[in-house]
Parts: sequence; structure tokens; C-alpha cells
Amino acid sequence: MITVKSSRDLKLMQEACVISARALKLGGEAVEPGVTTGEIDRIIRKFIESQGATPSFLNYGGFPASACISINDTVIHGIPGQRVIQKGDIVSIDVGAYFNGFHGDNAATFAAGEVSEEAKALMKATEESLYEGIRAAVSGNRIGDIGAAVQRYVEVRGYSVVRQFVGHGVGTNLHEDPSVPNYGTPGRGPRLLPGMTLAIEPMINAGGPDVKILGDGWTTVTTDGRLSAHFEHTVAITADGPVILTRP
Ligand code: MG
Repeated sequence: MITVKSSRDLKLMQEACVISARALKLGGEAVEPGVTTGEIDRIIRKFIESQGATPSFLNYGGFPASACISINDTVIHGIPGQRVIQKGDIVSIDVGAYFNGFHGDNAATFAAGEVSEEAKALMKATEESLYEGIRAAVSGNRIGDIGAAVQRYVEVRGYSVVRQFVGHGVGTNLHEDPSVPNYGTPGRGPRLLPGMTLAIEPMINAGGPDVKILGDGWTTVTTDGRLSAHFEHTVAITADGPVILTRP
């Protein structure tokens, strides 16, 4: 069931989203060679809790940390720990905060020092594809319009869209209906209505689209070992167009 939020709900939810966005920004600022992913997770958790909020991901389905931190060929769901970030790594951070009874969810990929041209181009295309998807998140459009916009943007540039994982509705639950694939057919899928809140989150690979989950049950990597990037915003559909709620 797709829930539609009232304008009061959206105001409350925006506060959770702002906390998420500020946590992501802090995490991104901490990305540099020599830092462990565990240290970044601690910074993020400390900030979220200092706001009186709860890290959405901590213990969600048994996930053991507050942020997913995914390096290079890790697409999503990397578990923070002892891994030391190296110069040239690209580091995807995905973080959510629960506050006022609502979740905010966002992600971005950050460069650790100077990174390859290939990495820079992938990050830029992935971020741009998120905004392409958001521009299609207009009342009256359909879910397929969002995915088609993301897919079109990245595929002409030679990248591929991860299909095994998708974006989602978000609100009182971290994952709600509808699914928001980063691929699709224009004009297909559920119709977008004011008050829907969606986590739009392209996961884009430099090589092929295939991914596999490692033995820890979480860490999801590209099958071909090539780079992957991930950008995400929580977006409200409104009568006046899409509103990005996860702004710091
Ligand atoms: Mg998400």
C-alpha cells in the first residue's frame, strides 16, 4: 500500500530528513585516506543521537551499524569496521535517521583524495542521474518515468543500472511501497500523487549490472569487480513539483 502524507506529516518528516542529510554531510567530510569505515560510522551515529534521533539502519534486519559504507566495487550495504580508506577510493555512504515518527534516507559517494578519471566520471553521472530521476518525480507521472529517466541518462554514457536493488517509498517505515527501480518504461507503474515520499537511489556500475552478496549476508559487490556509485535523496511529490527533503 502506498501511503500519502499530509502537509503536516511532510513537515515532521522533513526534520528527520534534514538530520539524515547533515549526518551524510558529516560522514562525507570524514572520508579521507587513513580513516576506517568504523570511525565514520561512529561520527554519524554520534551526530544522529545528539539530535535526539535514532539511526534508521542500526539493527534494521540485523544490520550492525548506523551507516552502510561501501568502497569501490562494493555497491551497497558495506558494513563499517576496520577497513582503512585508501587514497583513490570512492566511498559510498548511505544513512537514515528516524525522528518525529518518520525516516529520512539518503546516500552519496565521496572521493578519498585524488581519484581516477573513471571514478570521477562515474560519480558525476550517478549523481546527475539521481537529479534526472527527481525531475521525473512529478504528480501525474508514473514510477516508470523515474526509472526510465535514470536509465536513459547513464546507459548512453556506457554505465549500467543495478537491477537487483531498487529505491522505495519511505515514511513511518524505512521501506514502504512502491518500489522505485532505476530502470523502467515511461508511463508504466503506479501513478505519482502529491504526498507520496520516495527514496530515489540510483546504484550505477562502471561495468556490467550484475551484483553478488558476500558471505556476511550484506556486502553487495559488482560481479565484475568494477566500480559502483550510489546517490540517494528522499523526495516528496507535491502539487508544485518534487521537493528534496534530504537537504542539510
Ligand atoms: Mg534507501
